[in-house]
Amino acid sequence: MDRRAFLLLTLAGAADPGPPPGAPPALSADILAPPPAVASGDERFDAWARDYVDRAIRSGLPKDVVRKAFAGLTPDSRVLALDGRQPEFARPVSDYIRATVTDERIAQGIEKRQALGFLPAVEDRFGVPGPILIAIWAVETAYGAHQGDFDVLRCLATLAAEGRRRDWAEDQIGSVLRILASGEASRAQLRGSWAGAMGQTQFEPSEYLRSAVDFDGDGRRDIWGSPADALASAANLLAIGGWRRGEPWHREVLLGPRFDYGLAEGPKQTPADWRAAGARAAVPPLGEDPAAALEAELILPTGAAGPAFLLFANHFAIRKYNNSLAYALAVGLLADRISGAPPLTTPWPKETPLSLADRTDAQEALAGLGFDPGAADGVIGANTRTALRAWQKARGLTADGYLTADLAARLRAEAILSIHADPPAPGR
Ligand code: CA
Repeated sequence: MDRRAFLLLTLAGAADPGPPPGAPPALSADILAPPPAVASGDERFDAWARDYVDRAIRSGLPKDVVRKAFAGLTPDSRVLALDGRQPEFARPVSDYIRATVTDERIAQGIEKRQALGFLPAVEDRFGVPGPILIAIWAVETAYGAHQGDFDVLRCLATLAAEGRRRDWAEDQIGSVLRILASGEASRAQLRGSWAGAMGQTQFEPSEYLRSAVDFDGDGRRDIWGSPADALASAANLLAIGGWRRGEPWHREVLLGPRFDYGLAEGPKQTPADWRAAGARAAVPPLGEDPAAALEAELILPTGAAGPAFLLFANHFAIRKYNNSLAYALAVGLLADRISGAPPLTTPWPKETPLSLADRTDAQEALAGLGFDPGAADGVIGANTRTALRAWQKARGLTADGYLTADLAARLRAEAILSIHADPPAPGR
């Protein structure tokens, strides 16, 4: 899930609309004594909540904690509105990265790096470079400034009752109840995004239980109030996710004139093998290459017209935080700049956002022409890119697997022509 989007949506969230017009006045505690565990007035929510409360108690969670957490709980309609939001245009990777790796963020990141006395100790203990942690902190909450102020349990219960991601939401609610039972944080402290991401580095409750650490030594894992705890917790999450000490995350490469673009998202090989294939480092490493023995895959986030990168294992550790190429690349690139690296050698091209119809039409055209892109869902994922590369190759085009507006138009035209050229046999 794109936590950045959650954050932006959180910030854009409307004020609490209060009870709907015509709703009965709230009954006093006396009339309701003893209050039922769940009676929000929303039938679906209440049915789910009663069933969940039963299951939670039967699974061994303390009865008093569960009943107290669910007493008076109501669904939050804002959460459903935010969850149901489907943008018409997918945001181009280059737009996202331009908006994320800004001069202002770089300057702030450099300042933070110098100001945070605990950072070298975090780097030493977890093996994750400070600039990576600072970049995550910047992207998630603007250095702790925008953590989200939603009641995390209420949001998760709303999502669980709605049902689309019930298993995930119930798992997170179980983690919230375990946090409450432990006494480590109070219900009032469990604030975050509408999707349940909490604190300065936006941890889901299950991630908090698994990865959060008390680094400032006050006995509490305070990812909300303590930058040391928040950044050390992020470092621990990455370490658990496979971060390898001393290794790079990506490397920009320049492609020779006869480079086979079909190798994108393909083999994993060493920088020397990539050099032999025509992909050389944009900024050659000084001295001994720390990546000499590491295997990397090559990607072209904006096709042949944009920058090319080798992705090492540590890039995929960042994706444990948020499984999105754009997110992990933006974090890595921001970290590079905070570390003092120059801007990319190849600039990002201007991308035209494609509408949902552009994308699904292209997928249907590929399928109709015999290049299987998987389901026509408008998501240009690995299967669609593979199909696109095969089609480009068959047509003598640069096989970079990158869908532009021009290619979408060409695919649409070709699919229409193929239907007219090959009508069904008479009688069928
Ligand atoms: Ca602490």
